[in-house]
Amino acid sequence: MDTALADRLAAVDARIQDAARSAGRDLADITRIVVTKFHPASLVSDLHALGVRDVGENRQQELTAKRAELVGIPDLTWHFIGQAQTNKARAVRAAADAVHSVDRDRIADALDAAGGDAPLDVLLQVNLTDDVGRGGVAPDGVEALATHVAELSSLRLRGVMAVAPLDEEPARAFERLRRSADTVRSVVPDALWISAGMTGDFPEAIAMGATHLRIGSAITGPRPVRD
Ligand SMILES: *Cc1c(COP(=O)(O)O)cnc(C)c1O
Repeated sequence: MDTALADRLAAVDARIQDAARSAGRDLADITRIVVTKFHPASLVSDLHALGVRDVGENRQQELTAKRAELVGIPDLTWHFIGQAQTNKARAVRAAADAVHSVDRDRIADALDAAGGDAPLDVLLQVNLTDDVGRGGVAPDGVEALATHVAELSSLRLRGVMAVAPLDEEPARAFERLRRSADTVRSVVPDALWISAGMTGDFPEAIAMGATHLRIGSAITGPRPVRD
């Protein structure tokens, strides 16, 4: 086992505890998802041995392959955090326990149509930038999308997700996300999840009220290069 991995995980968890304490928040309300994209399945099993139970992937094929490879590890929750394509909805649904990246009616409809034994947890990805080409629904479209998703019987709307823009203070951007979270809650009162906070900004996300952190490189080390 990689002791550096254990050390990085412990260091991040200590910073999560500090940030929660400073914000007066209960650690039980915060789920730390380790983003394992580009790393081999063996890293996920090492993390599992260290107590990690929530992992995040951003590509459907990689998610599907790793989940199949690690089928012997039953108590892992797989979060899909990447751009979802409608023609991959069935595969995403088959491999993910939660999908953080629903940003338009069509992907919600495709995930719903893919069915499943249990309702699928979904979050609305909100675009906090002015660039419409980035993933996510614009904040002024959140209410309509939430209303649509709430009517799809095989999806369970849980809350919102976002990535902070690179060119803005994360705390300011996260304030907008919090308003979108309030909007979603006005439609679905128990949609309490706020998925925010990465390696560079998770303390700010905790201060804003994030319930699900998506932390990659601070825990895994640098990602292998992909072409
Ligand atoms: C890669 C990724 C992360 C993790 O990024 P780090 O900076 O390595 O912590 C979080 N969220 C999304 C959507 C990602 O694609």
